[in-house]
Amino acid sequence: MSKTDLKSLNQEELQELVCALGEKPYRGRQIYTWLHQRLVTSFDEMTDLSRKLRERLADIGMITALEPVTVQVSKEDGTRKYLFALADGNMVESVLMRYHHGNSVCISSQVGCRMGCRFCASTLDGLVRNLTPAEMLDQVYRISADTGERISHVVVMGTGEPMDNYQNLVKFLRMISGEQGLHISQRNLTVSTCGIVPGIRQLAQEGLSVTLALSLHAAEQKQREGLMPAARAYALTEVLKACAFYFSCTGRRVTYEYALVAGVNDSEEDAAALYALLGGQNCHLNLIPVNPVSERDYVQPKEAVIRNFKNKLEKCGINVTIRREMGRDIDGACGQLRKRYAER
Ligand code: SAH
Repeated sequence: MSKTDLKSLNQEELQELVCALGEKPYRGRQIYTWLHQRLVTSFDEMTDLSRKLRERLADIGMITALEPVTVQVSKEDGTRKYLFALADGNMVESVLMRYHHGNSVCISSQVGCRMGCRFCASTLDGLVRNLTPAEMLDQVYRISADTGERISHVVVMGTGEPMDNYQNLVKFLRMISGEQGLHISQRNLTVSTCGIVPGIRQLAQEGLSVTLALSLHAAEQKQREGLMPAARAYALTEVLKACAFYFSCTGRRVTYEYALVAGVNDSEEDAAALYALLGGQNCHLNLIPVNPVSERDYVQPKEAVIRNFKNKLEKCGINVTIRREMGRDIDGACGQLRKRYAER
C-alpha cells in the first residue's frame, strides 16, 4: 500500500491519523507545526516526538520534499527561478520575486497544462498530472528555507490551470494561510485562471478572501478563442459575470491580465473594446508585454505602443499597470525552464 503523504493532510486529518495510532490529538498539532512552520523534511527532526512514534509515522507515512535541480539568480533584481524535481521524477518551476512590498513566490499547480493557450510554453506538451497540496506548499517552503526569508505573497500563476486542480488548490490556500502554517494573509494570495466559470463561481463561495486574476488577453470572444482555445467553452459575457460574482461574494477586486502581443491585440480598436468591456468596473488591469516563446512567433509591441495602450485605458478611468519584467536575464517565458531542461 502506498504511504500517506503527511504534508498534504490538514490539521483535522493529521489529528485523526495520530489518534488512529493511539496517540493524543495534540501530537497531530505538533507534527503539523513541524511540517508547516518549521518546514522540516524528515521524521527524525521532530525531536519532541518519541522515537517509537517517529518510527510508526515513517512506516505508514512519508513527507513530500521537493529537490531543487537548478536555481537561477538574476543579477538585475535578485529574482530566483527554481526547477524542482518531484518524487516521481517530474519537474515543476517556481519563481521568487523580491518586491518592495515583500517576497512573492509564483508556484505551479500542475505538471504541464491542457488549456492550450497559444502563447504559453507550459501547455506545449499537454497535462501530465495535478500537483498535490503538499507539492504546492513545498514550492513555497523550499524557497523560504533556501533563502531564509519570509514569503509574504504567493501567486498561483506558474505552470497549470489551478481551477483544473480545484480541490487541491483550495486545500493549499487554506493550509498556506492557516495560523498553524506560514500564515500568509489570504489577501496576499492570488489565483490566476484562464476563465473556468464553474471554478470561479465555486471559489467565490469558499469563504476565502484571495485575489482572483482572470487571464483575459482579448476583449472579443472570437479573438480570445484564437489565443486561448479553452475560451471556447465559456462565453466572455459569462466569464465576466462570474468575475463580478466573485467580487460581490468576496469584496476582492478582480485583476484582469492582458498579454500584449504585437499585431494581435494591441490596436486602438482593441483598447476601445477592452474599455467597453471593463469600463465602470472596480477592477485592476495588468498589461503584460508577451514573453516570446521560441516555439511561437508572438512578439512584444513596441514600447510606445504599450504606453499608448495603457494611457488610453487610464484616461477612461481604468486602474492599469504594466507588469514589470522580473529576472529578464535568467530565462524566458513561463514554463520554458522545465521544457528546456526536459529537452536536454
Ligand atoms: N492557467 C492560469 C495560470 C497560469 S498562466 C491562467 O491562465 O491564468 C499565468 C499567466 O501567465 C496567465 O495570465 C497567462 O496567460 C500568462 N502567460 C502565459 N504565457 C505567457 C507569455 N508567453 N507571455 C506573457 N504572459 C504569459
